[in-house]
Amino acid sequence: MIKYILKCKKKHEFESWFSNSNEYEKLKRKKLIECIFCGSQNVQKSIMSPRVLNSNNNLESINNEKDFVKIKKDLLKIRKFVEKNFEYVGDKFTRKVRDIYFSNKGNKNIYGTTTQEERKELKEDGIELTTIPWVEKDD
Ligand SMILES: [Zn+2]
Repeated sequence: MIKYILKCKKKHEFESWFSNSNEYEKLKRKKLIECIFCGSQNVQKSIMSPRVLNSNNNLESINNEKDFVKIKKDLLKIRKFVEKNFEYVGDKFTRKVRDIYFSNKGNKNIYGTTTQEERKELKEDGIELTTIPWVEKDD
């Protein structure tokens, strides 16, 4: 695992884990990396943190490994929460969101998938979405 500090053009900084630097390049090429705060795809990596060659190397790796487990646990918690409280609508998400947004029937929690294009259109309609990293369960 490798951790990058990523920074978008609005100077939001966030951390992201990749299995290796090739994975980062691949995701970036496919425009699958985006700022977790504003959704911008104009993201650069600023610092590469683990595998620094110094005497604390081992210790640092272990800490990062622990961090990763912790982050993953948190993300799994979010996933569980969403699965329990939100209705899954899959790729009909965009249509459902519009239905809810324009029908004034109050809030309904749904989750699903969108394309970048759909997300942009929703944003133009004033609908802001929250994206969360969707981690795989270990089982
Ligand atoms: Zn940003």
